[in-house]
Amino acid sequence: MTSPLFRFAPSPNGHLHLGHALSALLNARAAVALKGRFLVRVEDIDQARCTPDLEREMFEDLDWLGLPLEPPYLRQSEAFPQYRAALEKLQDLGLVYPAYLTRAEIKAYVADQEADGKSWPRDPDGAPVYPGDQAVLDEAELRARAQSDAPFALRLDMAKALAQLDAPLSWQEAGAEGASLFNPPHEVTADAAAWGDVVLARKDTPTSYHLSVVVDDARQGITDVLRGKDLYHATSVHRLLQEVLDLPAPVYRHHRLILGEDGRKLSKSSQDTSLRSLRETGITHAELRRLIEL
Ligand code: GLU
Repeated sequence: MTSPLFRFAPSPNGHLHLGHALSALLNARAAVALKGRFLVRVEDIDQARCTPDLEREMFEDLDWLGLPLEPPYLRQSEAFPQYRAALEKLQDLGLVYPAYLTRAEIKAYVADQEADGKSWPRDPDGAPVYPGDQAVLDEAELRARAQSDAPFALRLDMAKALAQLDAPLSWQEAGAEGASLFNPPHEVTADAAAWGDVVLARKDTPTSYHLSVVVDDARQGITDVLRGKDLYHATSVHRLLQEVLDLPAPVYRHHRLILGEDGRKLSKSSQDTSLRSLRETGITHAELRRLIEL
């Protein structure tokens, strides 16, 4: 059996918070418990928000956590050709189309539908499912946008992609911490359709979170994706892309989330739970572990 390979894949678009500390430490612990290794991957495709300073500060935080870091780190901003190749494969399969609706247009369309008493589906993150350009724009407008240099997203034709599968889509889910790490995985039925036509790339960015994460997990040979429960439902999309791109499927292990005092998921903008500000208060490792119940 190959030895397990875990990864912690933060985006340096803000400071790491307690949730990241939990994720990083659980990955490191799982790698030790299961006699494997773990890698850090820098998910910096959003070049406007991910800055070299934030990346440097992120590594200072990870260093402070005492993680067994293994440079060099895979940086997504250096892998655009690989993502482009995967995107082209999907395009060759006829599974990608340019979509011109702006967020405001989607919102207005959905509001109209709902004003008419029709309910509109939301994806598992709560965003309205893409209605399709034809539902909103007339032929002439569609042609005009295609011929102009209007911004567009490249979306996955979900129905067509699902139709390519010869078996129902599922994934293997296993435990993320403690004794549960050793339990055999169980099968979870995937529901990629609930996401609708997800974005795979944009006019100026040849990839998206969903596309790059599956390409990278495959090329790094990741066997175990241990990440927060906030990404549980995204696994359906990842499994679909793996099947269509003929990539191996890792085992998934989704861990509990650390919630803020308001009961909501922590965000990179909440300063009081950033590792940086906690470090400045002189917090010890033991105190940090208590905060995240480790
Ligand atoms: N880069 C993602 C984040 O910071 C994590 C991606 C993943 O673990 O699949 O939330």
